Amino acid sequence: MGNAEIYALRYATMGSRSLHMNFLQPDPHDTTAQDLDYFVWLIRTGGRDILVDTGFNAAEAQARNRKLTRNPVDALAAFGVNAADIRDIIVTHLHYDHAGNLDRFPNARFHLQEREMAYATGRCMCNGLLRHPFSVEHVTTMVRHVYGERVTFHAGEGEVAPGITVHRVGGHSDGLQVVRAATARGPVVLASDAAHYYANLQRRSPFPIVYNVGDMALGWETIERLAGHPDRFIPGHDPLVTELYPRVNDAADAYALHVAPKRSFAK
Ligand SMILES: [Zn+2]
Repeated sequence: MGNAEIYALRYATMGSRSLHMNFLQPDPHDTTAQDLDYFVWLIRTGGRDILVDTGFNAAEAQARNRKLTRNPVDALAAFGVNAADIRDIIVTHLHYDHAGNLDRFPNARFHLQEREMAYATGRCMCNGLLRHPFSVEHVTTMVRHVYGERVTFHAGEGEVAPGITVHRVGGHSDGLQVVRAATARGPVVLASDAAHYYANLQRRSPFPIVYNVGDMALGWETIERLAGHPDRFIPGHDPLVTELYPRVNDAADAYALHVAPKRSFAK
């Protein structure tokens, strides 16, 4: 048990999705596709605020035709957190919707899997399909942070603060890491894009943007082991999160994840 608080801040949405956009092999019994929500997460522990992912900005939203509700930096401000006060940022992976705004946190150190940096700057980026979820501007900014000695590289498992650990699972992107935080209700795992929706993990049904399906499938087992309970894993993009958890700040569109959900997935 720990005492970390975790908040999901929703900063963008995307509707009009087809089932083929959410599942590599859609369930034929499914009739409607869910919207996709975009979040950053704030972990509050031991008097520190640790940010998980940094979202995208208005220019990127326009380029990709996404609906940005508020820049994550503004959402943090609405939540009472100044970007300049953030000292640690865990970047789960370098896709455009998780690693923008990297220039907006002047005093932060970035926690990244070394395989993600290698993947995002290596030969796979010569392929349009694999490159598509990345922004060369974001990746370049992270390269500058490497040269500025502002990146802590993790290889597999790593500790960011007492009770806050990162774990590489790969799959969706080669260096994707999930985050485990010890809360009063037990360990909660922020799965990021290891599972966009609850259903991706629960049905063992991959989201179609995937680098390595085998790693993704093994990643679901890792998440379940790390969380220890079906209610303690949080998918990366599921609107259901905003129904299951209490909204604690309207202006920031923030939801508390360290409390029990309103409905349980436990059988
Ligand atoms: Zn994502």
